Amino acid sequence: MIDIISTDKQYVANTYNRFPVELVSGKGSKVYDKDGKEYIDMGSGIGVTAFGIADTEWANAVSEQAAKLQHMSNLYYTQPCALLAKALCEKTGLKKAFFSNSGAEANECAIKVARKWAAENKGEDCYTIVTLQNSFHGRTLTTLAATGQDHFHKLFKPLTAGFIHTPTNDIEALKNTVNDNNVAAVMFECVQGEGGVIALEPEFVKAIAELSKEKNFLIIVDEVQTGNGRTGKFYGYMNYGINPDVVTTAKGLGGGLPIGAAVLGDRVENVLGFGDHGSTYGGNPVCAAGALNVINRIDDTLLAEVSKKSEYIFETLKNADGIENVSGMGLMIGIKTTKPAAEVVKAAMEKGVLCLTAKDKVRLLPALNIPFDELKWAIDIIKEVAK
Ligand SMILES: *Cc1c(COP(=O)(O)O)cnc(C)c1O
Repeated sequence: MIDIISTDKQYVANTYNRFPVELVSGKGSKVYDKDGKEYIDMGSGIGVTAFGIADTEWANAVSEQAAKLQHMSNLYYTQPCALLAKALCEKTGLKKAFFSNSGAEANECAIKVARKWAAENKGEDCYTIVTLQNSFHGRTLTTLAATGQDHFHKLFKPLTAGFIHTPTNDIEALKNTVNDNNVAAVMFECVQGEGGVIALEPEFVKAIAELSKEKNFLIIVDEVQTGNGRTGKFYGYMNYGINPDVVTTAKGLGGGLPIGAAVLGDRVENVLGFGDHGSTYGGNPVCAAGALNVINRIDDTLLAEVSKKSEYIFETLKNADGIENVSGMGLMIGIKTTKPAAEVVKAAMEKGVLCLTAKDKVRLLPALNIPFDELKWAIDIIKEVAK
């Protein structure tokens, strides 16, 4: 029989430092490797499988659509795309959605919207987009430029011009940056995911909102990871009481199929006109049908459950041996362990729990509907191996 790990190593580009495990199937928050070993999935494909693996309702929505109309050009109307846009707008109060296939592309759209809005409303020399140090916005050359972490930039220059990174949670520095530059937009994650699962301070987010009025720039919130119920609210910004102009999302939106969205508020809903942007696959009927199923199921009951599970994780791990601190929001959790995070993740995996890392932390992004007993079991293992 063909060995998948060695075949992958030989033929797939070396961009992922994969764990030595070949996963073949799963159900909910349980996943199985090729030898039948069971794991509790505390990463959900980096916050993608919002309702777990092979969720029946989601799989039905997707397969019914696949058997009916799997793709059509965006030159025609299709039902899932329109209904998904409507659901996103109704749940956020925003006005229009542009669909893409990934988080990076959703952010590309937001950046194009900000540039065109600023060119038309503030002049063509107003193009600067301010982002935060330690942020992560994607891997395309433009979203890399937006990403405020130098180690991602090395050897890929020149990147797209027009981005400035300001220190996270530093209001004075932010004020100086927006005073000294002709700013089109400020773009940020409410909880920096790849940067180590760090929630922004409410005062800092409030300062961005106040400055955006004073200086007339747009607020773009990157909800690729924090969106779609992950933080215990429908979108992460809803924890902060602000009204963004553009909200980008992906990951959990599709529940396991590639879809991204840039959702546009009333100041920018008509900035993009015919031909200004596009994507062959954007809003694809199968992906949109899956996403619609996900979005329709994120209700107050589920969100309350997310918060309850979050509290349980914080309470259980906060003062445990070998754990220095727990950060994040909802089911987006960073754990600073005394032992190196990679060592803890490896030990947890051997005991049947799949975790992620972010910077020097163990990162957890379980499915929103992970059963409480499976969550408890996984957290006990993490606690034990972190000791
Ligand atoms: C994952 C992520 C992205 C990039 O999404 P892709 O789908 O990998 O392009 C962008 N922003 C944030 C905050 C993310 O977590």
